Amino acid sequence: MAITPLMPVYPRSPVRPVRGEGVYLYGENGEKYLDFASGIAVNLLGHGHPHLTKAIQDQAATLIHVSNLYGSPQGEALAKRLVDATFADTVFFTNSGAEAVECAIKTARRYHHHHGRPEKNVLITFRNAFHGRTMATISATDQAKLRDGFAPMLEGFTVVDFDDLAAAEAAVDDRTAGFLVEPIQGEGGIRPASREFIQGLRRICDEKDLMLVLDEVQCGVARTGTLYAYEHYGIEPDILASAKGIGGGFPLGACLATEKAAAGMVIGTHGSTYGGNPLAMAAGQAVLDVVDTPEFLEHVRRMGERLRGALEQMIPNHDHLFESVRGLGLMLGVKMKTDSRAFVTYLRDHGLLTVAAGDNVMRVLPPLVIEDSHVTEFVERLSEAARQYEVPAAA
Ligand SMILES: *Cc1c(COP(=O)(O)O)cnc(C)c1O
Repeated sequence: MAITPLMPVYPRSPVRPVRGEGVYLYGENGEKYLDFASGIAVNLLGHGHPHLTKAIQDQAATLIHVSNLYGSPQGEALAKRLVDATFADTVFFTNSGAEAVECAIKTARRYHHHHGRPEKNVLITFRNAFHGRTMATISATDQAKLRDGFAPMLEGFTVVDFDDLAAAEAAVDDRTAGFLVEPIQGEGGIRPASREFIQGLRRICDEKDLMLVLDEVQCGVARTGTLYAYEHYGIEPDILASAKGIGGGFPLGACLATEKAAAGMVIGTHGSTYGGNPLAMAAGQAVLDVVDTPEFLEHVRRMGERLRGALEQMIPNHDHLFESVRGLGLMLGVKMKTDSRAFVTYLRDHGLLTVAAGDNVMRVLPPLVIEDSHVTEFVERLSEAARQYEVPAAA
């Protein structure tokens, strides 16, 4: 038998963390890493945060799981908190981002079904999008590397260019249910949509009674310096998928919707065995306790500006490697002139964790609790690594 017990679907790096403390991770042999990857935008509070740890410990000792057969004071409380803090009137809790997007897709289709228009079941989605790895979410993107070998795809998605309002508008027809879009593409390479684009999609949805569905799995929950990224765009969606950071590392996702958009989501239409269990709700509450305050959001914006400024200052010293910085708040990407994957691997070997993304981008996604000293340490070490890095010969 050559296959590994752990299904070998990931090209795992030699970094093997066994312990975390704040912004640092420690490997099996005590190696220390500065973690500016945050488990792919998940560990908003870093590692071992006392408030999150205690909330999970206390809840684990009280009640972990009961199923959705029973009333959920814990789920009601977190849903109410999200409703109060956002555009939404109602929330469905999931265990992952892909499941949150699945719920969002079902909610959008069901809206038109509810209004007697079942033929309106096609969502317009965008090139290089990433919505997860389930059948519906890989059907919702054009990325061949996600889809190869998994045919047939699900019907009901039309893919057009990202940030191209004319293309999106031209794709609308009698079967269109709405748009599914990441306001800032994450895996696609930290590409923020323009204001005109998102506002234009909102206008089209208003004019034609379509659903604007935002995938904020990566950019949501304070990452960009507002609780959700749509706030930067001066619009509100009809439906929004959230996950990654929302549990601070505990598996949790949420599908948020307005009352209007959720009209079809009545008893029996959707479900999840684990979704919204008391332990997950405690983690979600603890994360919001920390991140959803004006002071903390201001901290994220300030750290985002510092980090961005420091990266921009560094670029001219290494302009054979780096091109530009993009993103919002602490969701930053450095567009590279050489292979970003190879450079991210090199940084790992030198104790710095970042994440590669599409379009030759290195993602910089630190825990939101970083301080000035971490920004300084990161940029100094990045600069040192860039000085020593030998660009691999082109293959
Ligand atoms: C990570 C991600 C997902 C999928 O989340 P999982 O928890 O891996 O299922 C969906 N959408 C976006 C934008 C993401 O970044």
